[in-house]
Amino acid sequence: MRTHNVAANLLSLSLLLTLAGCGKPSLDVPAPLNTIGQATPVIAHVHDAHGVSKLTATVEQNGAGYEAWQSTAASKNADSTFSFTIGTKTTPQLHDGKAHLILEATSGGLLHGTSRWERDVNVVTQPPVISADSDQHYLYRGMADLATLNVTGAYTAAGIRVSNQDFRTWPMPGGKPGLFSLYAFAWNTPAGTTPLAFASNGTSGDVTTPLTVIFPKKEQPVYTQHEIQVTDQFMQKVLGELDPNGTGDPVARFVKINNEMRKANNQTLSDLRFKTADQFLWSQPFTRQSHSQAESTFADVRSYIYHGKKIDQQVHLGYDLAVTQHVGVEASNDGRIVWAAPLGIYGNCIVVDHGYGLQTIYGHLSRIDVHVDDMVKRSQIMGLSGMTGMAGGDHVHFAMQLDGVQIDPKEWWDAHWIQDHVARRVDLPGFHK
Ligand SMILES: [Zn+2]
Repeated sequence: MRTHNVAANLLSLSLLLTLAGCGKPSLDVPAPLNTIGQATPVIAHVHDAHGVSKLTATVEQNGAGYEAWQSTAASKNADSTFSFTIGTKTTPQLHDGKAHLILEATSGGLLHGTSRWERDVNVVTQPPVISADSDQHYLYRGMADLATLNVTGAYTAAGIRVSNQDFRTWPMPGGKPGLFSLYAFAWNTPAGTTPLAFASNGTSGDVTTPLTVIFPKKEQPVYTQHEIQVTDQFMQKVLGELDPNGTGDPVARFVKINNEMRKANNQTLSDLRFKTADQFLWSQPFTRQSHSQAESTFADVRSYIYHGKKIDQQVHLGYDLAVTQHVGVEASNDGRIVWAAPLGIYGNCIVVDHGYGLQTIYGHLSRIDVHVDDMVKRSQIMGLSGMTGMAGGDHVHFAMQLDGVQIDPKEWWDAHWIQDHVARRVDLPGFHK
């Protein structure tokens, strides 16, 4: 009985305290908040059964505390969202450098319990300053290049922007000062697009400076047109493999695979850019599958013909390299496996990361003999060729991507091109032209 009474008393005590509003509010700031600029938006969620009587934001810097914001009215709601700005506009005493931000919520209950959220922040009011190398960059559609740049001042993002594609920047290898960026002029980038070096720190818009570029009009690759005859046998093979439970019009199903699945698969490949090493994993030119015939090259425009009628068109962003059936598929260069599994239209697929966002892709394999995170050597056999996925015959679909943008691999097979575009501008240990 005695224990029961204690429990009962405790229960009524906690009930009383809850009713009186002794509890503390919970305070949550969902968005990352590491930098304060001139007027940085802050969103804070407060939960308290008795509402919120007050929310304050204080910034401490060099021993002084400044009230940066305070709510003007109490809220009776259990859930309140406060949205406001803090920064040098309203607190001009702040200057660039380290600071400490404290949010404090006070309960609407009788005992006015408080909760704190605090964090070290940087006050950054000046935009970064960016400069790029003064090289003349020769640009070819579908190809890659390398630029070096310098950014001073605080920045949260920097790189090379080509049209709507951003390519990351990396610290120069070997501990040298400055940054570099491998970037691509994608196969479908409009002629006349000037790549920009950019940097931002959230103070205002991005700071940009154009690269000096030459776009030799006469030497641009010409993409060729091809017709793919879709036989009933090929269509049945593709549908049986990639849409085994589907029903309805076979042509519509085939076109859906060729568009939607292709798009989703390319997105999966592109997202592998985040699984890249921040160093060169290679030191020799890339190799092309031994003794192979190129049945198709980069950015061929393919019309799909079924019973004499065009049913679809796609751009083929790789090389189709044929040797013999079930030939050993060779790694094009040293690297780390970041994908080794089926991938829709690409069938059994391997992706090798070579560092700094550069990756090679191998599709349609009949067998995969490597695992994710395995290190592979140049020319190492990783599996056997085949015709899985959207393939009508045994071949290796070989492709390359840079920061998720598919590029023409052929330059990377060429030691002179690597010397002129990469090794001349950054340290590429062990590379000899
Ligand atoms: Zn292919």
